[in-house]
Amino acid sequence: MNKENENRIPEKSAKSSGSKKKKYINKAIFKAVKTFFLSLFVIAILGTAMGIGMIKGIIDNAPDVDVDSIIPLGYATTVYNASGQVTDTLVMAGSNREEATYDELPQVLIDAFVAIEDSRFWKHNGIDTRAILRAVTGVVTGNSSSGGGSTITQQLIKNNVFNGGRERSFGEKVERKIQEMYLAVKLEKQMDKKLILTNYLNTINLGSNSLGVKVAARRYFGKDVSDLTLSEATVIAGITKGPTKYNPITGQEANAERRKIILQYMYEQGYITKAQQEEALADDVYSRIQNVNTLTKEKNSPYSYFTDALISQVTSTFINELGYTETQAHNLLYSGGLSIYTTQDPSLQQIVDSEVNNPENYPDTKYSLEYRLTVTDSEKNTHNYSEKDINKYHTEVLRDGFNGLYQSEEAARADAESYKASVVKDGDTIVGESVKTILEPQVSFVLMDQKTGAVKAISGGRGEKTSSLSLNRATDTTRQPGSTFKVISAFAPALDTSGDTLATTYYDAEYSIGDKTFQNWYEKQGYLGWSSIRDGIIYSMNIVALKTLMETVTPRVGVQYATDFGITTLTDQDYNASLALGGLTKGVTNLELTGAFATIANQGVYTKPVFFTKIVDHNGKTLLDNTSLQNHRVIKDSTAFLLTDAMAASTENNRKFASSGISVNSTSTRAHLDNMSVAGKSGTTSKSIDVWFVGFTPYYTAGVWAGCDENQPLTDNGGTSFHKDIWRKIMTKVSEGSEDIGFPVPDSVEAAVVCRKSGKLPIAGVCDHDPRGDATYTEYFAKGTVPTEVCDHHTTVTVCRDSGLLPTPNCPTTTKVALIVPSGQSDTDDSQYAAPSATCTIHGGGTFNSDAPTLDENNDAGVGLAPKSNTNHPVVFPNQNNNVSVGVAPGDSVGVPPTKPNQKNGKTKKQTSETSQAETTAPAIKTSPPTSADEDSDILHGPGVNMPKNNSSPAGPGTSISTEGPDGPVAPILVGPGE
Ligand SMILES: [Zn+2]
Ligand SMILES: [Zn+2]
Repeated sequence: MNKENENRIPEKSAKSSGSKKKKYINKAIFKAVKTFFLSLFVIAILGTAMGIGMIKGIIDNAPDVDVDSIIPLGYATTVYNASGQVTDTLVMAGSNREEATYDELPQVLIDAFVAIEDSRFWKHNGIDTRAILRAVTGVVTGNSSSGGGSTITQQLIKNNVFNGGRERSFGEKVERKIQEMYLAVKLEKQMDKKLILTNYLNTINLGSNSLGVKVAARRYFGKDVSDLTLSEATVIAGITKGPTKYNPITGQEANAERRKIILQYMYEQGYITKAQQEEALADDVYSRIQNVNTLTKEKNSPYSYFTDALISQVTSTFINELGYTETQAHNLLYSGGLSIYTTQDPSLQQIVDSEVNNPENYPDTKYSLEYRLTVTDSEKNTHNYSEKDINKYHTEVLRDGFNGLYQSEEAARADAESYKASVVKDGDTIVGESVKTILEPQVSFVLMDQKTGAVKAISGGRGEKTSSLSLNRATDTTRQPGSTFKVISAFAPALDTSGDTLATTYYDAEYSIGDKTFQNWYEKQGYLGWSSIRDGIIYSMNIVALKTLMETVTPRVGVQYATDFGITTLTDQDYNASLALGGLTKGVTNLELTGAFATIANQGVYTKPVFFTKIVDHNGKTLLDNTSLQNHRVIKDSTAFLLTDAMAASTENNRKFASSGISVNSTSTRAHLDNMSVAGKSGTTSKSIDVWFVGFTPYYTAGVWAGCDENQPLTDNGGTSFHKDIWRKIMTKVSEGSEDIGFPVPDSVEAAVVCRKSGKLPIAGVCDHDPRGDATYTEYFAKGTVPTEVCDHHTTVTVCRDSGLLPTPNCPTTTKVALIVPSGQSDTDDSQYAAPSATCTIHGGGTFNSDAPTLDENNDAGVGLAPKSNTNHPVVFPNQNNNVSVGVAPGDSVGVPPTKPNQKNGKTKKQTSETSQAETTAPAIKTSPPTSADEDSDILHGPGVNMPKNNSSPAGPGTSISTEGPDGPVAPILVGPGE
């Protein structure tokens, strides 16, 4: 005691006494006034309530409380799949739950909990009026740090009596609170304080599957609870506030902050001296925490990925919708005797599991290591090691360029052994060691019913699952979504709200924002000029997606749509151009991305992906019911259909309309199903670290992700296409026996023939005589959005027949179709067909005749184009049968009627949106090796350029084209067709 006073005095006298005295007086007056008003407030509330007999009614309704009911119920929870079979039984972690007696509890541990949770525990009668007042103050002043006002007795009741049911409204919460207080007082009369505290400490959730202090002491410090030091006891007491956030392994910083507060409270409340407080603070306690879980010997087979995801969703629903605490939710789930009816379809789950785990589906298999080693040296210091230390050993000591992947399981284990030999010294004790090898590359798969949101099957990874609640790559891991996000953040909002149609064109040319230059995945094929949103989807065109987002949609609207599609992981740093390409700060989970595409599959209505339909409590009362869907409309049904139709075309063999020799093909043909209509979008991130395909049939939506856990590029580890094969194999089996009903065209959609280079009405004889072939096609439009303007990207120009340049008065002339392209842009496939700007020098010069390049007179009737005159460029037949070469003689020029969407039995097959071209007879204008369509890598140079949220459309320097009309800068001297 003396020592304590000695310690306190210098601290107090350290402050200046004059101003301090004044402060004290002010404080005292303030406190008195505050207490007075608060008392008035409380009396007023209580008085009113009493007056109408409310409190009595509430108390009469309070559940019975006795000693038995505050001890965990101990009923296992049963999990049923959609076929009614029991798939799992959830019981308390380590059903050999260990309970400590009061005598086993060290005083420091008792004091730590009392000091932080309920400082007047030993004095009050179950409720603490001062704490309640403080809580009311908190509500009144909005200062939530003033505490919840719950005593340990109340918390014990709250965590273990479940009869409260739903507490959705404020009134229900107040009612529950009053009942809780009443029961706490009642319990204190029946039960000894020491027993109350013991029960409390034996039942609280202390994270990492540890219930109660005895389990926690073993889990974190490898010792008996009675041997805990002050420093260790405060770590454990610090967890209570939130077993996840304050977990001493995964939430070390938060736990350390909390521990500081506990030590301060213990000192202030006289449990410890200043010296003890400082000694504990100086202790490097976290280095002693075991990273090996020596307690949990998995006796039962671990839960499946589905059950893991179910547990996580049920727990968060209990907390967010029923107002339970984390401890309560955990207790209810594992010992509340619930029946949980899940959405899992066992036969679909079986299909997913067998394909995900089929080694033949992976061209290259390697292994990574998950390593945990805890060693105590001769001086009782604990050392922890993980695979990160092994990798560091390779980079810093061995310097052998090891990238974290082993060729075989044996090699991985041998490396772990040799690493252990390098760190364990004579006299050291190995406390625990765990060596796991993980197959790489990894994969995740989500299969859901778009109409109900029901998750039918899920896989969080390949390879043996060795523990429950292990890493679930489908629900826990966020990954860059790559090009799949073009549809979500750019194209969907463009069609839905920004006035674009599938035919709206953007100019595919070199594109920079700030000092970032973006590229296409088909970089070697050059830029392709005017390209529609349909092209952007089918061929996964980066520049088209970027310009759509930056010039039309705006990042702000793009983020809004992505959020409406159910993506919850976007941040303030995602309001930029990279949003269009899925270059996000945090990335997305497979579950949420699949949920977003399910929205498109479900005609534009988002339904939250759910793992359960119903939860019934031990007494047969329905606790939660998911059968009434939580949904909202994100996009119009017309938008959903348009996106679906374009994404369906990307699974068919299509080749971008371009010069012969340029081979840019559909990016998702490997996901094409022979037995069912399918639509979807691929995605590949920079350096091929992540690959995706998310798509749907008329029945199910599924997303596959593949990549290495530590981001090693897939180019060296199996390639970037195997995931689409897995998707196709699974979905082919899933679709067996179902009728292909196609994707029906909604009434809100109509078809019209347009020019693919402008997205506007074609000019007969011009648009269908593009130098590369017939540029007209039939497109779907939301009703009312069929263009009314005529093409402004094609024109005719009169040139010298010999030089192809602008004619002098002496030149023999001819007329040809030319492209109108924006000025000041890089070369594209279109720009080579722009009208010439130089004048012929062959035929005797002469001055430039401004009348020379004329537009043909009869615009409206279609510009006459003399057959055989077009000798410079081949004109090609549009051809509905792709990949069939049609021999075309130069000079032939026959208009072919635009194609129409094939519709039969109300079902839309692929629209003939692409025109194949003669590749053999026509002289190649550009030749470069065809680029594999399966490598649609989105090349981002550095992080995205951040844009302010409300900056509507900051196009980068040098980009000034408008997509709204013909007023973009055009090549000089050209006269466009009349408007
Ligand atoms: Zn045109
Ligand atoms: Zn000439």
